[in-house]
Amino acid sequence: MSEQSFATGRCLCGAVSYSITAEPMAAGQCHCKDCQRASGTGHMSLAFFKTDDVNIIGETASYAVTADSGNTNTRHFCPKCGGRLFGENSARPGMIAVAVGSIDDNEWFKTQRVVYVKDRPQWDSTPVDIPNFDMMPPAT
Ligand SMILES: [Zn+2]
Ligand SMILES: [Zn+2]
Repeated sequence: MSEQSFATGRCLCGAVSYSITAEPMAAGQCHCKDCQRASGTGHMSLAFFKTDDVNIIGETASYAVTADSGNTNTRHFCPKCGGRLFGENSARPGMIAVAVGSIDDNEWFKTQRVVYVKDRPQWDSTPVDIPNFDMMPPAT
């Protein structure tokens, strides 16, 4: 594992691991029902990197859905332990969304926006003092 990595991470069982060579381009949290069902909790916390900056070791399983936007969102997870690892969206080619909880040291994570707050459950909380969007804002 490189000393120059920005971050490293793995699934629960360790069958899939990764290293990341550069800082994230964006960071956000999503309350959509798909993320709730995929994560089993109230939101996903995601850090967005260039796909080229993330080196993945091991095979993931994946599941693709069509989002409200019409874009295809493909979620990758460990086929052995089920741990959520990455997502790719057809609206953002060349970008990969890493599930922040799978990153070994993730204290640096600072969410920049919260999306799908219309689906935020009353028992879950994410910051309200940063941009909050009812749904997915148009791609920037
Ligand atoms: Zn695993
Ligand atoms: Zn979502």
